[in-house]
Amino acid sequence: MKWKRLLPLALLTALLFPHPAVSKTAPKTLDIYFIDVEGRAATLIVTPAGQSLLVDSGFPGDRDAGRIADVALKVAGLTQIDHYITTHWHRDHVGGSTRLAQLIPIKHYYDHGLPATLTSDLQPELIEAYKQTTQGQSVTLKPDDRIKLLSPKYSARLEVRVLASAGVVLGEKTASPQIRPCGEDFDPRPEDKTDNVNSVGILLSFGDFQFYDGGDLTWNIEDRLVCPRNLVGVVDVFQSDHHGLDVSNNPRLIRALKPRVTVINDGPRKGGEAGFYARLKSVKEIEAIYQIHRNVRTTDRDNAPSGFIANDEEACQGNFIKLSVDPTGKSYTVTIPAKQISRSYRSR
Ligand SMILES: [Zn+2]
Repeated sequence: MKWKRLLPLALLTALLFPHPAVSKTAPKTLDIYFIDVEGRAATLIVTPAGQSLLVDSGFPGDRDAGRIADVALKVAGLTQIDHYITTHWHRDHVGGSTRLAQLIPIKHYYDHGLPATLTSDLQPELIEAYKQTTQGQSVTLKPDDRIKLLSPKYSARLEVRVLASAGVVLGEKTASPQIRPCGEDFDPRPEDKTDNVNSVGILLSFGDFQFYDGGDLTWNIEDRLVCPRNLVGVVDVFQSDHHGLDVSNNPRLIRALKPRVTVINDGPRKGGEAGFYARLKSVKEIEAIYQIHRNVRTTDRDNAPSGFIANDEEACQGNFIKLSVDPTGKSYTVTIPAKQISRSYRSR
């Protein structure tokens, strides 16, 4: 049999050119994990150089921190979180950070600034826990700041830029007034007095690939990101603001960003609202809408097809969505690992 003669040669080749030497130098993807924290928030970015940036940490307690740590340690193979941004102080964003720090070391903390006074939507015990966990070492982000990440020579240029923080967007000096009339189809909402408006919003660029994560930014401040000038640009992937709630996701923002792919970080009974879903469907540039959860309160018509949903049932396994960007930044693949479904898209 011919293969018997070939086998020793194959073994010799393997000895001379061991596989790990190849994989070490092979260009790596940039990966984004949309972790299922059931309507809270946790998005983990892992760079080709193996650095990591986590945006938000879900609720306090074991479940959300546990799911984040599982993806970080077991799926992404990380040993630490290098950078962690709390977009704002609500329980579903900052809550898991204390528990998470016990499960995996977190090196650098970022936020929009500790509140000088506690408004009624903030919980003092969560802010106190965060202060203890960070030991006062968190960095306050301002618009146009960058999170320092390595851009290896062999892959596309990587940058994470702050678009908005503490109610101020790029190029602005102050947060007020929140409502600033702009353009002919200006359609404001009542002023948002919660901490949502203060969310840190970021744009990740990896060569041609652009990813937007605006935390829980709301309608009026979203408008200022794109009017009078589109400060974000056109993006490839849009993570829905505020879990896909109708009070956020201003149509002027979505139309200006022209995403090819949208990922809704919703829960079975939170976000992914019908009005927002219809708004997305009306934007012709959007080719695919992914949901972490099927919204069980609405109909099939108001949800993406099951092949685009990580968790169909309310009693779920906590399935995540993984997005991998090619080392060149020119294309990316969205995968629902639990369903073994993958689709690829070109960057704009
Ligand atoms: Zn939220």
